[in-house]
Amino acid sequence: MSDASVTDSRQMLGRLRNVMAEDSAGQARLDKITGLIAEEMHCEVCSVYLFRDADTLELCATEGLNPDSVHQTRMRLGEGLVGRVARTGRIMNTADAPAERGFRYMPETGEEVFSSFLGVPIQRLGEKLGVLVVQSKSKREFSDDEIEALEVVAMVLAEMAELGVFVGEGAALRARHTQSVMIRGGVGQEGAAEGHVWLHEPRVVVTNLIAEDPHRELERLHEAVNRLRVSVDQMLDGARGGDKDQLQVLEAYRMFANSKGWLRRMEEDIARGLSAEAAVEKEQSTARARMGQVNDPYLRERLHDLDDLSNRLLRILTGQGTETGAEMPADPVLVARNIGPAELLDYGRSLKGIVLEEGSVGSHAAIVARALAIPLIIHAGRVTTEALNGDHVMIDGDQGLVHLRPDETVVGAFRDKMAMQVEALERYASIRDKAACSRDGVTVGMHMNAGLMADLPSLAGSGAEGVGLFRTELQFLVRTKMPRRGELSALYARVLDAAQGKRVVFRTLDIGSDKVLPYMTAQDEPNPAMGWRAIRVGLDKPGIMRMQLQALLRAAAGRPLAVMFPFVAQREEYDAACAEMNKALERERILGHALPEVLEVGAMLETPSLAFAPDKFFRDVGFLSIGGNDLKQFFFAADRENERVRKRYDTLNVSFLSLIEQIVERCAATDTPLSFCGEDAGRPVEALCLAAIGLRCLSMRPASIGPVKNAIMRTDLAELRAVIHAARERGDQSVRPAVVEYLRENGGIPAKG
Ligand code: PEP
Ligand code: MG
Repeated sequence: MSDASVTDSRQMLGRLRNVMAEDSAGQARLDKITGLIAEEMHCEVCSVYLFRDADTLELCATEGLNPDSVHQTRMRLGEGLVGRVARTGRIMNTADAPAERGFRYMPETGEEVFSSFLGVPIQRLGEKLGVLVVQSKSKREFSDDEIEALEVVAMVLAEMAELGVFVGEGAALRARHTQSVMIRGGVGQEGAAEGHVWLHEPRVVVTNLIAEDPHRELERLHEAVNRLRVSVDQMLDGARGGDKDQLQVLEAYRMFANSKGWLRRMEEDIARGLSAEAAVEKEQSTARARMGQVNDPYLRERLHDLDDLSNRLLRILTGQGTETGAEMPADPVLVARNIGPAELLDYGRSLKGIVLEEGSVGSHAAIVARALAIPLIIHAGRVTTEALNGDHVMIDGDQGLVHLRPDETVVGAFRDKMAMQVEALERYASIRDKAACSRDGVTVGMHMNAGLMADLPSLAGSGAEGVGLFRTELQFLVRTKMPRRGELSALYARVLDAAQGKRVVFRTLDIGSDKVLPYMTAQDEPNPAMGWRAIRVGLDKPGIMRMQLQALLRAAAGRPLAVMFPFVAQREEYDAACAEMNKALERERILGHALPEVLEVGAMLETPSLAFAPDKFFRDVGFLSIGGNDLKQFFFAADRENERVRKRYDTLNVSFLSLIEQIVERCAATDTPLSFCGEDAGRPVEALCLAAIGLRCLSMRPASIGPVKNAIMRTDLAELRAVIHAARERGDQSVRPAVVEYLRENGGIPAKG
């Protein structure tokens, strides 16, 4: 970098700052800025093109082109050289623009006389805002120094836009983050919600972009980087001997924190006139832009690491912690890149909705969201960049849509939809105390899934006949240390009290996979879902299982008790778990505690192997509950947390339904009580098919009981069974199309299905 260019860009930034300080309207500011950039870059033309919508760029200010074309000239993304820079996010530097592939001449601008072209993207934290262009008549390529200077200016323009500097009369730009945005994501949990954004990790706001004293800024940067390195080393020391994945992430952090290239680029940006924090954010923007282009999951993760590290550095420099002092709104909609089940439980029911940039429908965070009956949107791209704390937001969990800062039409339509949902709920309330009896007289038991004490009020409200699945691990996940037997027993007793004699099936601890207890050493396993989890942990480390069984027996204090073991893959595991139960019973008897009046012990059928267990197992087991979430992932060999593969396989796929039907038949032949407690039990079409092939007991999230019961009451299950079998005979891959058509014609479900 030559000294001359260093001085130039500093001088240019200095002049930019003066323009910002002037009391002028948005457009006037932008016009002045194009003028001064053209002058400083020794070019005849400087133009700013900004996105009007996702696909259209508009010339918003120019020095050197025909002023009448401002706000008139528009181009599509990818069109012409400007459109190309916008689409690719890459710089374009050419001495002979008209000779370039894709060049498009805009006659109204009078640009034909300009041969050299340099275009740089205007972007902020991965968000594309527009393109900054300089052009000159003389045929020359721009030097690296000139390119870097223009990039720095583009970055400052993006930040200024963020701060609302160009807002005002004749505004060239509306303030970023004031426009309404719709983001299309995936459905994690149905339901609509309206509220205000609460960022799980609030963003750092950088207000001083340009600095006068580069030496001071360099000192600040070096001090901050040193503090960052020390803190990463401390985190690494603390994590040694622990989870290997976490260790790997921290190793990557350390590598980036010590990266000479990273530091050098920031130092150079400071030398060009940026403040230390603006230099960090410029690097962060570059990483975010690359994140959008990289498909390799490993590289994406590393770019995420760099992004996190930049955030940490920004927090050190600005003194802004994660505690921003902002108050959580009364109706918070949580916005996060991703979140674990324990963190989500910390927020609890205070949340109106959850929007995740990543996440997956089969994750336990999603299950917690369902347990809490909170609408959840997953894969909502860019949401953490777009949303600001306190923004008005409406989420449509049925369609996977997020309306951020919605305009009045959206607000009106959305509120109508919410009102319709309330109406539907009222309709369901009218059938709450009726049995789910089909048109042909088959009654299906409606039970609910729970996991928190707070779920229990739903038992009466939803009309559930009992709790078909009580996920006990949620109580372990919310704590920072292993709960004691007394605490657990008091809690289970309260659950039984609240159930008022209705049956509650407690599932023993299902940890492992993505449910990692913060106080247990995490295992380094290549495939945790198929690893050391659930009953496998329970039997290998029987202390916890014994403690839990005792807590359950004490809680029952003589009342009926139902316990089931998760993830049983072969009978030996069930037998060993029953032996533990017998030991616990014996111990309680010796201690003189009351034993349950009736004790039911059963297993979850979550692995295909158990469906093929010998008849004797079916006869011996107290009851079975199909854990469809896991059973489906192992049947199709498709990770329930991997959105890419999960959606390929339909629950109503003939092979899967045949497996379930076979389990139903085996249970009928051996008189084994059977239920289904996976998420599909709560989806009306799936639930109807399960009932049609013979399931007589379904357990689902409380909010689904009304819609599922309503669907059952409107359907002739024998006819539906014939439709399913006919589809199978025909060789259909999934029975869904035939079933949906039949239901539409026969009024079993509303048109949407
Ligand atoms: C299941 O696998 O279907 C189930 C109910 O258990 P979980 O979702 O908690 O793994
Ligand atoms: Mg399971």
